[in-house]
Amino acid sequence: MKTILEIKDLHVNFKTYAGEVHAVRGVNLYLNKGEALAIVGESGSGKSVTAQSIMRLLPSPPAEIKQGEILFDGKDILKLSEKEMFQIRGSEIGMIFQDPMTSLNPTMTVGKQIMEGLKWHQKLSNTEARQRAIEMLRLVGIPTPEKRVNQYPHEFSGGMRQRAMIAIALACNPKILIADEPTTALDVTIQAQILELMKELQHKTETAIILITHDLGVVAEFAQRVAVMYGGKVVETGKVDDIFYRSRHPYTWGLMGSMPRLDLKQEDALTPIPGSPPDLFDPPKGCPFADRCPHAMHICHEEMPEVMNVSDSHQVSCWLEHPQAPSVHEGVRVNL
Ligand code: SF4
Ligand code: MG
Repeated sequence: MKTILEIKDLHVNFKTYAGEVHAVRGVNLYLNKGEALAIVGESGSGKSVTAQSIMRLLPSPPAEIKQGEILFDGKDILKLSEKEMFQIRGSEIGMIFQDPMTSLNPTMTVGKQIMEGLKWHQKLSNTEARQRAIEMLRLVGIPTPEKRVNQYPHEFSGGMRQRAMIAIALACNPKILIADEPTTALDVTIQAQILELMKELQHKTETAIILITHDLGVVAEFAQRVAVMYGGKVVETGKVDDIFYRSRHPYTWGLMGSMPRLDLKQEDALTPIPGSPPDLFDPPKGCPFADRCPHAMHICHEEMPEVMNVSDSHQVSCWLEHPQAPSVHEGVRVNL
């Protein structure tokens, strides 16, 4: 499978009055053509910062990309001029956000917002762009698109706005779509519809998707591969089955354990991981999960575990993978 995006050793800091936050600390990730990769982890784990680095949307200051490469089609995005980046944003890589109201322009009709990219990037005429905007609205399931194309975002419901944002992001046939918690603000039925729509579009258009979420149910439904982030690092990556049934990282076990299950009573279903995430003003030198990990050993507090291959598709960074580590895997069963 062809890799279209590769993030290598990405480090991002934020300067604040209280000091420097090490938000992303050496992230390595790749995305294959046409696949859906989910990035999961609790808030503050570095998921959104990683995504926004790909789009070069982080405000600088306070954000600063300290180190790393983001290769898109072989070119390092971090080295492109603002003009070259403008070309990529929207036409090659599209992004949809949690709250469409912050990214849709309230003073412009939805149609015009879809048309903008088409006219700019694809040099379509007004009539052609309008036609394509109507097609896109139809594609994302907005009824009477001929009428809706002339309406403003406030005339759309929340779910419709989210669809409109998907239409804008996909209008120029991007190779990659980044969706940052795209359904969190929506009610459950609409959430399911939007995800179904994204899945359908992914099959039709062969767009690769990076889906950022903290909802493991969504991951199981949607993704082929998963990256689990914690404390600014990717702690485990693998195919969906690797992560759901054969996970090797204690943090992933905790995540799985905190997933609500239909066959359990609510009070039994949630076993949140005790403790709090590491202080990223002063990140631990060892494993970021060491303070919360029930299996932590002396070395975990002293040295960062390296990334180890469980299989070609499955990588984990945990000292338990070390040949001399005690075996705890046998005792762990994840039932979904
Ligand atoms: Fe736990 Fe150590 Fe593995 Fe970190 S490296 S997850 S502390 S066992
Ligand atoms: Mg976020």
